[in-house]
Amino acid sequence: MANLATGSFTTADHLRTALDGPWAQVRETARKQLTGNQFIGDPYLDYKAARARVLDQMRAVAELGYPGLGFRPEHGGLGEPGAAVVSLEMLAYCDLSLWVKSGVQWGLFGGAVENLGTERHADQVRRLIPLDLLGCFAMTESGHGSDVANLETTATYDPATEEFVIHTPTPSARKDYIGGAAEHARVAAVFAQLITQDENRGVHCLLVPIRDADGADLPGVTTYDDGLKGGLLGVDNGRIVFDQVRVPRENLLNRYADVAPNGAYTSTIDNPSRRFFTTLGTLVRGRISVGGAAAAGTRVALSIAIRYALLRRQFLDQDTGSETVLLDYRNHQRRLLPLLAKSYAYAFAQNDLVRRMELVQTGRDTAPGAQRALEKRAAGLKVAQTRHATRAIQECREACGGAGYLTENRLVTLKADTDVFTTFEGDNVVLTQLVAKELLTAYADEVRDLDALGWVRFAATMAGDVVRKRSGVAN
Ligand SMILES: Cc1cc2nc3c(=O)[nH]c(=O)nc-3n(C[C@H](O)[C@H](O)[C@H](O)COP(=O)(O)OP(=O)(O)OC[C@H]3O[C@@H](n4cnc5c(N)ncnc54)[C@H](O)[C@@H]3O)c2cc1C
Repeated sequence: MANLATGSFTTADHLRTALDGPWAQVRETARKQLTGNQFIGDPYLDYKAARARVLDQMRAVAELGYPGLGFRPEHGGLGEPGAAVVSLEMLAYCDLSLWVKSGVQWGLFGGAVENLGTERHADQVRRLIPLDLLGCFAMTESGHGSDVANLETTATYDPATEEFVIHTPTPSARKDYIGGAAEHARVAAVFAQLITQDENRGVHCLLVPIRDADGADLPGVTTYDDGLKGGLLGVDNGRIVFDQVRVPRENLLNRYADVAPNGAYTSTIDNPSRRFFTTLGTLVRGRISVGGAAAAGTRVALSIAIRYALLRRQFLDQDTGSETVLLDYRNHQRRLLPLLAKSYAYAFAQNDLVRRMELVQTGRDTAPGAQRALEKRAAGLKVAQTRHATRAIQECREACGGAGYLTENRLVTLKADTDVFTTFEGDNVVLTQLVAKELLTAYADEVRDLDALGWVRFAATMAGDVVRKRSGVAN
């Protein structure tokens, strides 16, 4: 703590300032606002009550103004994506169900409507910020999760009525695991194969109302509850099946492609593969947020375990005549402190990633390749931080012995809630392959462009590396 009398700062103050990074003020404000029990999860609630509580908490978060930070000024926001990611990350210190459900509403659903839609969807964006419109992000299906290009749901254009017909053609085309689909969402951002003039144009996103104002399924829509999960008690994940549901032509989120009243398809991006990856790339903020929230959960766990290790004593030390503090055992230090060091490193890396995202998404970094580099970095850091969370939180639980297993000490809830972070917003193995592919492509491009002198230098460097490695110098 800063010494207010002398105005001096301790090492901890400097460390906090460094770790808080470019959005220190946002973090500091949230620390003051998110106090008390209002935003903390209650593990004793049943899942229905937990979901209702999280929705109430989201209304309070909306009143604090956090969601508006990330949306564009013309939609009533402030146009500060970095501040939005960081402020919502602060919810992760309170309760990860609250963070996930907020992320679905404002990050995934809101992000899809604002970034894939155009001015004709502005009203929906304005309404979703204060929660007047509750939505969900319906991409995954029971049959296809990682392989989004092969989703089976169809959106077939009917020029006679100027509507799209949304349909679930097979059992595996059912939308699944969708946050908000079980109870609260009224509208879904549905990813489907767009078919017009008898041609499949690939995966596009459309807004499809799924429930009426009373929460009943609309005609042609059937929703199901995914039921109890391994964690995230307060998130209502569910399934959606569409039976020839008709929505107006304007419900297509048409930033990159549109369908004219007569069914003619146009796109600003000719290459279908590039169009698909541009669409997915627009949603990078969600992946960046998952890494940040995983890291926040890990920091909570490490704070608990390390503070406990400074107090807890086991076994009498004959030399001192008193019992030994756990953190004085070198073994205990080796278990926890490298994880703490890694957490510091990830905090800096995450701040840098959010800073890069802010530059790209506010149009201040328009360098060719900036968006792609951001996506690669986001994927790699999401994998690293979520893997770290899984490992570190388990170690923290064990490091607290039996006390770590009591729900009131939070570690088991953190473990259960962060478990799935390795899977959603891109499975970690699949994301690692994506990063590897990007790196190999960049390497191939670099080598392909070499002239004769470049090849000689390249061969010499390779030979040097091999010699260094074999001689043990590189180790
Ligand atoms: C709690 C929760 C909330 C979710 N919320 C949403 C939501 O709101 N909206 C939404 O659209 N989705 C949501 N999802 C879905 C989530 O994004 C998917 O579960 C995720 O993308 C993985 O897809 P999958 O479950 O089909 O797994 P699969 O893709 O079937 O993967 C299963 C296993 O196979 C491996 N694998 C897959 N492909 C390859 C490959 N090419 N090479 C090597 N190994 C491979 C994976 O590593 C993984 O271990 C949620 C999921 C959960 C559990």
